[in-house]
Amino acid sequence: MAEPNESVCPYCGVGCGIKYDADRESAVGWKGPVNQKGELCPKGAAAWDVVDHEERLTRPLVRVNGTLVEATWEEAFDRIEREFDRIVADHGPDSVFFFTSSNCTNEENYLLQKTARKLGTNNIDNCARLCHSSTVAAMGDRFGAGAMTNSLEDLMEADVYLVTGANPAEQHPVIFRSYLLPALKSGTKLIHVDPRENPTTKAADVHLPVKPGFDIPLLNAMAAVIVEEGLVDEEFVAERTTGFDELRAYLAELDVDEEADRAGVDPEDLREAARMYGEAGRAAIFTGMGMSQHHCGTDNVQTLINLPLLTGNVGKAGTGVNPLRGQNNVQGAGDVGGLPNVLPGYQQVTDDDARAAVAEVWGFEPPATPGLTEVEATHRFGDDVRAAYVFGENPAVTEPNANHVEAQFEKLDFCVVHDVFPTETAEFADVVLPGSVWAEKSGTVTNTDRQVIRMRQNVEPPGDARTDLDVLREFAQRVAGLDTPETPEGVFDELRAVSPLYVGMSYDGIGTGSQRWPFPEGATEGTAILHTEQFETGSKTAPLRVVEHVDPADPVEDDELVLTTGRVLQHFNSGALTRRSGVLMRMRGEDVLQIHPDDAADRDIEDGDRVRIENDRGTVTVAAEVTPAVRRGTVFTTFHYADPLVNKLTGDALDPTAKIPEYKHSAVRVLVD
Ligand code: SF4
Repeated sequence: MAEPNESVCPYCGVGCGIKYDADRESAVGWKGPVNQKGELCPKGAAAWDVVDHEERLTRPLVRVNGTLVEATWEEAFDRIEREFDRIVADHGPDSVFFFTSSNCTNEENYLLQKTARKLGTNNIDNCARLCHSSTVAAMGDRFGAGAMTNSLEDLMEADVYLVTGANPAEQHPVIFRSYLLPALKSGTKLIHVDPRENPTTKAADVHLPVKPGFDIPLLNAMAAVIVEEGLVDEEFVAERTTGFDELRAYLAELDVDEEADRAGVDPEDLREAARMYGEAGRAAIFTGMGMSQHHCGTDNVQTLINLPLLTGNVGKAGTGVNPLRGQNNVQGAGDVGGLPNVLPGYQQVTDDDARAAVAEVWGFEPPATPGLTEVEATHRFGDDVRAAYVFGENPAVTEPNANHVEAQFEKLDFCVVHDVFPTETAEFADVVLPGSVWAEKSGTVTNTDRQVIRMRQNVEPPGDARTDLDVLREFAQRVAGLDTPETPEGVFDELRAVSPLYVGMSYDGIGTGSQRWPFPEGATEGTAILHTEQFETGSKTAPLRVVEHVDPADPVEDDELVLTTGRVLQHFNSGALTRRSGVLMRMRGEDVLQIHPDDAADRDIEDGDRVRIENDRGTVTVAAEVTPAVRRGTVFTTFHYADPLVNKLTGDALDPTAKIPEYKHSAVRVLVD
């Protein structure tokens, strides 16, 4: 009998079950805990394309006289060990930075963060920094947990969905199709806040085409309408919140029409949306990177959180604040400690008791000083950061101000890239280690609604490639003298022992289903709805907060437009995987710039023209798509392609709290090429 081979899609945070079908020589869906009918979107269905792709890395590469050449594992690891030893001896452990991977397993990320900490540094981060770190910061501050407050199942009970800065119809297609659409068909209303019309907007009852960077005026105005029109849940506010009087006084001074105008939306549409949300018995928020990727991203989400607290929409089915997470394990990479300020289970590195508890299991105490975040670290390459280990991420494409990122990577003394393809970042590597993809490894991932799901190995990695866990175990031993469990199950057991969120789970118990965190010791199941009786802060109340608008970092001159970036159905993040799928490239082979007809006419741009997009940071060229779907004054494109590398244009102004860059608002000039 064949071994079980149920695995998980390597793309978005929905966590659909996929496995290899040898007869069809492709990935197929199995009835997973999320895609309960085995349904997949085009990316999941094309996931086999990357497994047997001819460009897969199959042997280690080391740089000799400026060129990457094939090497044995022994040669590659000897070089890594020698260089890490030298750099740590000369410059200390904080001269090394680790990129963990939001699309690798919990066990792999756990091992890498433990290795960093054994080496003596908290310089470890993953691309959650670039997508929802501001959401996590704001929700952590108010609720004590930064993850989805509710489960996908109970969210089907909502009367109203408020979707802000997200496009689940394209970016989380199986959630949209299998959870939201059935609810919408049964009468749930949808408010969509997004600068452009996209497939999610088509299902909306109200669309608020907010000006990028002006979410705070919009959300404050919605809160003002809710207070003004008596839609506050007074009992909830009295029992479960603090700070209402200050917020009410602030909102009373606001002119709703003026705030709507500032946000670039029709005041009557805004009032209708506020009433729809405020009058609902159960209203649920889904929030995405349109909210989080601003230099005021934390403040954006802080403003958003006032809405459910004013209206009692927290702690019950069909409500809450629900960040839609990007990659298949971006939730888990943070859960297991792949962040510079927290240990597994979001225990602060500054917490003496937490460090002591972890040390009991690890046999050494992790460092107490928070490390650098991702973009901060890149800015310091060649300065106090001299070496990097890049695991399953492609920062040369995904970080903002890409020309600067490229220059920074050139400054590193030593760089290891551990990945499945020769990515754009691998061009800067001194050693490249071949990685394993979804079908070649076992372990767990944690999806967007906190479900831990198991992946199972279907096939062996190609050529000399090894499983990522195997490679990371040798890396841990070579550079940090760290012995680690041999199997994913062994690592998962150790993770449970140090993480209060996962402690009650079991690898066997997950089986082909899932277990959801928090899962306390001795519990029979995890917790679907958070904050029912008290918040995860330990308090019964959460604060309401006054939040003031902050202008975007890039001033916009008269001849400029605002570039905002995002994702589309057929591709994923840096495109390192999806650009290698023949099917997906046939569906969408190249990028376009969406531009409003009036903005196009002002510049003599016609549909299909090649246009140059430029600012002081860089220049790219792309074909124009003239469409009223994008609001006037704003242009939209994706960041999936290495050419055009749109992140040459995006700015690296950081949110002061979460250190997330402002991807969603860049001033650009657009001209016929
Ligand atoms: Fe994969 Fe997400 Fe598509 Fe599901 S919805 S198949 S997890 S990309």
